[in-house]
Amino acid sequence: MSFSVPFQIAIDGPVAAGKGTVSRLVADRLGFLYVDTGAMYRVAAMLALTKECSLDDGPAIAEIISQAKIEMNNPKEGEKDGRLTTVVVDGKDVSWEIRTEVVSKGASTIAVHPEVRSVLVKKQQQIASIQNVVMEGRDVTYRVLPEAQLKIFLTGDATVRAKRRHLQLQTRGQNTTFSEVYQAIVDRDTHDTERATDPLKKIPEAWEINTTDLSIEQVVDLIVNKVAAMRNQDDR
Ligand code: C5P
Repeated sequence: MSFSVPFQIAIDGPVAAGKGTVSRLVADRLGFLYVDTGAMYRVAAMLALTKECSLDDGPAIAEIISQAKIEMNNPKEGEKDGRLTTVVVDGKDVSWEIRTEVVSKGASTIAVHPEVRSVLVKKQQQIASIQNVVMEGRDVTYRVLPEAQLKIFLTGDATVRAKRRHLQLQTRGQNTTFSEVYQAIVDRDTHDTERATDPLKKIPEAWEINTTDLSIEQVVDLIVNKVAAMRNQDDR
C-alpha cells in the first residue's frame, strides 16, 4: 500500500453496533492491527473493582492503570474461542473477565474521569503511531486519532443491537433477558453520550454506516472497498 505509514482507520459508535467484529475483520483483510480501546476502559474498571477502589475516584484509577502492564494481542491458535482480542493484565489473561455486564457498566462509569481518559488515550496514540491500525471506541475519530485517514461512525437500531448483544451473551452462557440487555444498552449509550469529557458523538466528517439492515460481511466489504478506492486515488 502506498500510503505514508501509518494508515489509521478510526471507528466510533454505540454499544453493539458491530464495531469489534467489523474492525477485527477489516484489520485481518488489510493486514492492520486491530485495537479495541473499550477493552482498556474495561480493564480499568475490572482493576478498580478487584482492588475495591471507588469507581468515582478518577485519580486513584488512573494511578492503578498507569502501574498495570496491559497487553493486547491478536488471539493465538489456542485462544480462538470467539474472542476478538486477547487481553493480558500483569501476566493474567482477562479476555473474558472484562466482558461481564458488571464490568461493562463499570467501564462506562470510570470512563467519565478525565485522568483515566488521559492515561488511556496516550497509550492508544502510542500504539497507532508506529503501525497501521483499525482502532475502535467512542472518541477515536476526534480525540485519539484526529488525523486518521478514514473516520467512520458505525451505528444501528437499538433493538437490533440489543438482539445481537443478547445472542452474544447467551452464547457465552450469561443468563440475561432481552429486556435487561436492551435497557443496559440504552443506559450505557445515554451515559456515554451525555458525559462531559469526550462523549460518544458523530463528528461531521465521519462516514456514517448504519448496520441495521446490513450483514457483517457487507459492512466489511464497504470499508475495505473504500480503502481500496482511497489507495487508487493516492496512486494516481
Ligand atoms: O466498546 P466497549 O463497549 O467495550 O466499551 C466499554 C465502555 O468504555 C463504553 O461504554 C464507554 O463508556 C467506554 N469507552 C470510552 N471511550 C472509548 C472506548 C470505550 O469511553 N474510546
